[in-house]
Order: sequence, then structure tokens, then C-alpha cells
Amino acid sequence: MIGNYINGARVTDDSAPTAEIFDPALGAVTGQVQLSSAQATRDAIANAAKAFETWSKITPLNRSRILFKFKDLMEANIDELANLISREHGKVESDAKGELTRGLEVVEFACGIPHLQKGEHSRNVGRNVDSHSLMTPLGVCAGITPFNFPAMVPMWMFPIALATGNTFILKPSEKNPSISIRMAELLTQAGLPDGVFNVVQGGKESVDEILENCQVEAVSFVGSTPIAEYIYQKGSQYGKRVQALGGAKNHMVVMPDADISQVTGALMGAAYGSAGERCMAISVAVAVGDEVADALVAQLSDELQTMKVGPGYGVSEENEMGPLVTEAHLEKVKGYIAAGKAEGATLLVDGREHDVTKTSSGYFLGGTLFDHVSKEMSIYQEEIFGPVLCVMRVKSLDEAIGLINDHEFGNGTSIFTQNGMASREFSDQIQVGMVGINVPIPVPMAFHSFGGWKRSLFGPLHMHGSDGVRFFTRMKTITTRWPHVSQVTSDFIMPTMK
Ligand code: NAD
Repeated sequence: MIGNYINGARVTDDSAPTAEIFDPALGAVTGQVQLSSAQATRDAIANAAKAFETWSKITPLNRSRILFKFKDLMEANIDELANLISREHGKVESDAKGELTRGLEVVEFACGIPHLQKGEHSRNVGRNVDSHSLMTPLGVCAGITPFNFPAMVPMWMFPIALATGNTFILKPSEKNPSISIRMAELLTQAGLPDGVFNVVQGGKESVDEILENCQVEAVSFVGSTPIAEYIYQKGSQYGKRVQALGGAKNHMVVMPDADISQVTGALMGAAYGSAGERCMAISVAVAVGDEVADALVAQLSDELQTMKVGPGYGVSEENEMGPLVTEAHLEKVKGYIAAGKAEGATLLVDGREHDVTKTSSGYFLGGTLFDHVSKEMSIYQEEIFGPVLCVMRVKSLDEAIGLINDHEFGNGTSIFTQNGMASREFSDQIQVGMVGINVPIPVPMAFHSFGGWKRSLFGPLHMHGSDGVRFFTRMKTITTRWPHVSQVTSDFIMPTMK
């Protein structure tokens, strides 16, 4: 059974309820994960609070040296880690390595913490008066993470939280709990003191304990929008600092001057990579003009015939797309395909008919393509989170921008064009947090911040980059004067600097 990681060791509670872990490529149960009680979660938090007393006093330089070592260990074990991700998530191993690499870039960023946490200093803010700000750690911070990036999303959070002097409780998705335990072990091996990083497996009961516990200072969440909103509201109600990233519906605008072969190549990866289970996946292609739309759907339909779908590991030649995460999710996505057809969209390629769905017991679905999708359809309004691409037809860039701005989500978007004016107009007008110009999945690098707008993010601060350092620190500003004895006076008016 996969249990918790507390105080530098694996801990399992045989009396706790459990959930099944599946290998999506086999469609079989491969293990159990513990669903921790509120009491077990409380104990882990108390432990992390104790560890904070010493960890917060260790110098930033020494904290960063542990993270350097952790990065080395992760890289040395990358094959094993990618395989572990593939066996519980389904994504192909090279994609799992990509996820690990993007996560480790945040570790690299956090290794610069002696510089990032220097704070601010101003000399002579008044006559003989200096001010400096300390960026102090908060205490126990928690991360609650989704199934789709079981290594990268936790690494958006804990490297910066630990580097800035906090201790951390990770509550990973119950669908793929193993990688979090391996990362905890490698942190210990890298020299992280016991109790600084802890993993609590579980569902709503442990999440609610995290949100209500007065020893938790901050909560970072990534997952679906209804849960993100719940976490933000409840965490804020209990006085915590919260950043909660939610769902998405990402559009790619294809302008008449775009190179259609280039767009098709970009869209194949952006829509179908990781079986569409990415918060930055492109799920809507907005073609400006029928000519572009016709050329695009023709090329995409051709490409889908040859896209290799199959297990993400254990094959001599790697597949391009693995299975969906669970049978329940597979059925949900199939339900959307049926709904899209019933609502009147043109189903050009039906992934439910793909050969792999007939020959394997895994949770496979082929790439699916809809044309003539319109605004009111559920396949447009809702996040499908599967390998389903909707093509919509508009007459102008303005209409495309209006369409995107009307959607409830605002995570990522992109435009493919050779026209600088059009791309500038697009990036100025669009109400979306992350924008790509001829870049299909514009995920910001670790030293920038990641976050959407509208109902894709609750809270003011984005993940990692300078927002991440701000999120995990609290400013203390110290104003200093060493007066001459002759300067001692009493001031009864609001002090102003002279
Ligand atoms: P999810 O919301 O079901 O679960 C996320 C986390 O919340 C998990 O740890 C889960 O155990 C916990 N949780 C689930 N139900 C809960 C409840 N009722 N009360 C308390 N906690 C609960 O999300 P998921 O299915 O694991 O992940 C997919 C979703 O995550 C998609 O919507 C995707 O867009 C989103 N996502 C967003 C981003 C982003 O950056 N905006 C990144 C990755 C994933």
C-alpha cells in the first residue's frame, strides 16, 4: 500500500480506508493508496510545524545546496521516475521525462534563493533613516495537486516553499500517489532534515483538515475549477494565504496567413499529447475563414490516421499518445463525444472507433476531431480533458478575440500568423493569462510565473517565478535611525520624513 511520508520515513496505517491505483495501459488495479484521516493529517502538520523551528533558521545558501543535490538525484533516477509516472498516469515515458525536466527547472530557479530572498534596502529614506525589508518564511505550507502532472505541479510549489525556509505538506492526487513518495525519499537522501517535506495521501478529509488547521499558513492548489474555488473560499475563510489554479479551455487562433502544415504539426502535439490531459492543451482551434478551416481539418484528419496510440512504457518503439487516466474518465470523455455529435457538430474522426480500443483492456481512446463546433455546445463550453479537438469557424480576428474573451476560462491561448500587427492586437486584447505567438503551449519558464485569468485562477499570485517567492514569504520592513542624544523629541502628528 502507498502511504504517507512523515518525518523522513514511509508510514502506513493499515486501518485507514484505501482507494485503488490503476495502471491505465493495462486497465488493471496495481495497488492501493491510503486515504489519511483528519487526525493523521493533523499529526503530520504538527510535525512540520516543529521542523519549521530549525529549518527556517538554516541559511538560504545551505537550503539551496540541498536542492542542488536533490536535482542531481532526480536526474540520476529519471528513467525510473518516468516509468513510475507512466504506470500510474498513462502518459508516454518521454513525455513523463519532459514533465520531470520542467519541474526540475523550478528546482534550479529555487537554487538561486540566496539572491531571490535578499529583500529590499533603502538608505536615507529620511535624514539618517534607513529601511530594509526581510522576506521571511511563513511556516507550514501545503500543496494539493492534480493527477495530470504528478511530479511537475508539486515541483511548481515545494522547491520555492522549502528554499524560502518553510516546511511543506504535499497532498497529491490519489490517482497517482507513488511519485510523490519517491521525491520525498530523494529529498531526504539529498540531506533535507526530517519533517521538512511530508506527503499525506488522501481525499477530501485530509484536504479539509489542511484548510481548517491553524498551523497551516498557506495553501497552493492546482486542479479543477469547482475544487479550486472551494479551496480558495474555505482556505481564505480560515485566514490562510491561498493560490488556487483551476481548469481551462485553451484556444488556438489560426489566421489566413498561417502555414497550415506548421499549424497542424503544432496542433497534433498540443491537442493530443498526454491524451489531452494537460491544463494547457489546445482543445479549440479557431480558424479565421473557411479556406483555412477546410485545409486544417483535411490535414488533421490525415495525421490522426497515423498517430500511434498505445501503452506509454514497455514498447520497442514509443507511442505518441497513451491511455486516459481511469475508466471513469474515459467514459466521461466518450460521453462528451456522444454529446457533441448529438448537438450537431461534425464528427470527422471518432476516437471511440480506434483499433486500440478493440484490442486492449487499457483506458484508450483515439484522437477525436470535431468541425463546425458552435458556442452553445457542451463540448465547447466545458473542459473535456481528453484527446478531443474542436474546430470553430469565424470570419475575423475580432470575432476570434470576442469568442475567447467570452469563455469562462482564461488559462492559455495562442495565435498562429505571420502578421506582427495581428499578433500584437491579439496579445493586447485577449483576456487570458498565458499567450503564445506561433507557440502552441506557452507554458512560462520557471523564472517567470504561471497562471491563468478568470475562472482558471483564484487568488492574486501565480505559481513560481517572482510570484512564487512572494507567495511563500512575508515581508517585514524595518526602519532604523540611530539618533544623536540631542534629537530625542515626542511627535504627536503622523510621522513624515524630512
Ligand atoms: P481535481 O480537482 O479532481 O483534484 C485535484 C486535487 O483536489 C486532488 O489532490 C484531489 O484529491 C483533491 N480533491 C478532489 N475533490 C476534492 C474535494 N471534493 N474536496 C477537497 N479536495 C478534493 O483535479 P484532477 O482531476 O486531479 O486534475 C485535472 C484538473 O486540474 C483539470 O481541470 C485541469 O485543467 C486542472 N489543472 C489545472 C492546471 C493549471 O495550471 N491551471 C494545471 C494542471 C491541472
